[in-house]
Parts: sequence; structure tokens; C-alpha cells
Amino acid sequence: MRLLVVEDEVDLADALARGLRREGYAVDVAADGGEALDRLAVTPYDLVCLDLNLPDVDGLEVCRRVRTDPAYAPADDEAAPRVLILTARDSTQDRVGGLDEGADDYLVKPFSFAELSARVRTLLRRDAGRSGAELRVGDLRLDTARFEAWRGQRPLDLTAKEFALLRYFMANAGQVLSQERLLEHVWDEHADPFTNTVRVTVGTLRRKLQDDGEDQPIETLVGRGYRLRDQSGRPA
Ligand code: CA
Repeated sequence: MRLLVVEDEVDLADALARGLRREGYAVDVAADGGEALDRLAVTPYDLVCLDLNLPDVDGLEVCRRVRTDPAYAPADDEAAPRVLILTARDSTQDRVGGLDEGADDYLVKPFSFAELSARVRTLLRRDAGRSGAELRVGDLRLDTARFEAWRGQRPLDLTAKEFALLRYFMANAGQVLSQERLLEHVWDEHADPFTNTVRVTVGTLRRKLQDDGEDQPIETLVGRGYRLRDQSGRPA
């Protein structure tokens, strides 16, 4: 999942980005509203952590533009980003204002990272149309809170990036996902689009998913990308 942190307090922005990256998210940071809008226009983020008090374009205005300006409309096969407002403004008026502008949730500063992390998980789950901390597709199971994954009864020993990739596949089971889309949603801006990092990581994940005698749940569709077979387990 690809996240954008919009926060002008550098120390807080760094801490949030570091913490979220540790949880396997791909995270970019914007220091003001203008930079946030520039990034949102070109990258299909899954979720935006949006500070309201920003030095240039106000966070509420960023939210309003993202929700109403066609320049920020998601592509056909993409969903609009979830927006989690981070604000020191504790008044009811500001909270209602944010929700009126299309924010999905808000968190009043100061907050603990654990609370932010839980809200992010919940919002991304809602995006995937599932409830609970667990994702299930076929015999694959993934606990997004404890960072554990299993195939049937077998625990999977995944790196943080493999875990993030499997989570994205499971949230989009049955869909054909191009290498470009995986790069956009599972890697951050520091990933080099000209390397074969997606192919290599999908390759190691596929090897870990498939034990002796098991079928391979992630199909390769030549020239199109990859697909995690959905619950029905039907072939391509
Ligand atoms: Ca601020």
C-alpha cells in the first residue's frame, strides 16, 4: 500500500514515515499543501495522512480539491485515496469541516503512533471491503496487525516487502496487476522503475508461497502482469 504523509513539521513527518515504512507501507512525504497536490496528481496513493495546518494550501483545501477536482480523479481500475486528517485543531467545527470535505477519519494531535497505525489499518481494510485484522484469500491468511502470514497451517517467513506485496495482492485478489501498478502501490518514490525489483520480489514471494505439491496462487500473465487467484481458485 502506498501512503502519502502531508506534514510541515519535519520531525513529526520523519517519525510517521519511518514508523509506517517499518510496517511495510511505501511512504512518500510532502512538506506543504502544494507539494501534496503535485504528488496526488501523478501517484495513485491508497491513503493520505493529511495535516490541516500547512504553510501554503490548507489541508482542508487539499482534501476538497482531491475529492472534487477532476485532475485528481482516480483511473478506472484505481480507488480514490482514503484521507486521514491529522490535526491539532480540536474544535468540533474543524472535525466536521474535514469530514464534509471528504476525509474518511481524523486524529487529534498529539496521538500515539500505535493509534495512527490502527486507524491506517482500518481505513485500508475498509478499502478492501473486509473486516477484522485478517485478510483471507483461498488458503492464504494474513494478519495485518501482527505482520504474520500463513498458507493453510504453514507460517510464511516473509520480508517486509514480500509481506507488503502479498497484502496488496490479497486486497486485489482476482485482478490482473501490472508491474507498473505494483511498483506504484508497494514501492515508494525511491524505487527505480528501470530495475527488475518488482519481478524479483514477486519471484521470491511465489517461491515462498508454493511448497512441494502445492499449486501456485500467483499467476503470471505474460505482458500483462500478475494475478492472485481469488477464493474460487479458478484458473486464468
Ligand atoms: Ca502543521
